[in-house]
Amino acid sequence: MRTIIEPFRIKMTEALPITERDHREKALVAAHYNAFLLNAGDITIDMLTDSGTGAMSARQWAALMMGDESYAGSHSWHNFEKTVRDITGLKHIFPTHQGRAAERILAATRLKPGHIVPSNSHFDTTRANIEYAGAAAEDLLTPEGEDIYSTKHFKGNIDLGKLERIIAEKGVQNIPFAMITVTNNTGGGQPVSMANMKAMKKLLVKHNIPLVIDCCRFAENAYFIKEYEAGYKDKSLMDIAQEMFALADAATMSAKKDGLANIGGFFACNNDQWAEDFRNLLILTEGFPTYGGLAGRDLEVIAVGLREALEYDYQRYRHATVEYMSSRLIERKIPIVQPAGGHAVFIDAAGFCPHLKPLDYPGIGVVNALYLEGGIRSVELGSVMFGRVNAKTGEETTAPRELVRLAFPRRVYTQSHFDYVIEVLDHVWQHRHEIPSHKITKQAPFLRHFTAYFVPGKVAAANPVKQQKAG
Ligand SMILES: *Cc1c(COP(=O)(O)O)cnc(C)c1O
Repeated sequence: MRTIIEPFRIKMTEALPITERDHREKALVAAHYNAFLLNAGDITIDMLTDSGTGAMSARQWAALMMGDESYAGSHSWHNFEKTVRDITGLKHIFPTHQGRAAERILAATRLKPGHIVPSNSHFDTTRANIEYAGAAAEDLLTPEGEDIYSTKHFKGNIDLGKLERIIAEKGVQNIPFAMITVTNNTGGGQPVSMANMKAMKKLLVKHNIPLVIDCCRFAENAYFIKEYEAGYKDKSLMDIAQEMFALADAATMSAKKDGLANIGGFFACNNDQWAEDFRNLLILTEGFPTYGGLAGRDLEVIAVGLREALEYDYQRYRHATVEYMSSRLIERKIPIVQPAGGHAVFIDAAGFCPHLKPLDYPGIGVVNALYLEGGIRSVELGSVMFGRVNAKTGEETTAPRELVRLAFPRRVYTQSHFDYVIEVLDHVWQHRHEIPSHKITKQAPFLRHFTAYFVPGKVAAANPVKQQKAG
């Protein structure tokens, strides 16, 4: 097969900071060893997130100039609404400034203490908003989904047996809605199959529980369905997306992902009462319902971006970049979540640093080593992000997995950038026994990973890891 090339050429460049190691050491100290607190100007390759970090197309920049900044009923709103409706088919559509604004208003209007919201895996902001409303967020992955080395496809699927048991145990009256995250960001960016979503919907319909899709990466998920699920090879990504959304009663979206925009989101639903309640709170905190916290130009950009995300050549190229890096890390036996996810490579930090325990925060160790070695920024998705401290006892629970995510901003980095990242990762892997433990010295009561301060422990005496665990 021919090389899958970037289906675009570059007409504007942005300089990358190329830094020296001693500069990075000082920068990391100043950031209290928390990569979130680094200045972007001190970072060479920023793989912290794929959220809002993409490059806009010439069509998007042109659309931006067409932004209609009228307070109410602008033509930009109509373009936005039409695009979201063409894709989702949902009746009521509300722009929000980000995905989490949609989540917050949904949680505030539909959830009460004692409620439970099951999902394949909740994203951190989704979980936090559900918990902030006093409800519980339940992750129900399949056994393959929980096994980071299983090479099965559709490891983002929800476990229907677990879902059925939770409904029986907790009672339908305590489950105002269920969610499915496509692709499953916290679960390794793994996709959800159409068959799984259909079976989930069937089960929910039986119990009269609405289905809310967290659809941040709906187009990437549609690509996986086309490539890997029987019966979808000849369908367009738009057809697949529409088939997916036909199962939804509502959707929350961050346009910073598959909206190919730098800001924005939306909530969409069919239920009139849900829409009424959502609208009232939206006006209170986001803005008038035809702009919902966004400028008219943002609405235009998102309307173009949502359609570009569904272009096959774009998705094929994007998947090829993640696949390119994954396969080269697997060759080097570096432990990563398999198969390659949609938007990121996830390193198994526990397998990378067998000398560290979960409360030594191996993920933070790997993140900081990548920064010191190559100015690369990644993010821990492990016991810092998902662990909990009991406010009364001070006892700390750990996360089921210690992952480090290297997210791929959309249309930003080229193959030589990825080659550089692979080289740096290989060096850190060769010196993995030198990665220190970290301790938290300051933290917030929720979403602590954003602002926590760390200090590294002493590096164990040179003790090269002899055995290489096969990835
Ligand atoms: C990014 C993301 C969100 C939150 O969206 P923001 O725009 O960052 O507020 C919710 N769910 C998933 C799966 C995400 O990836």
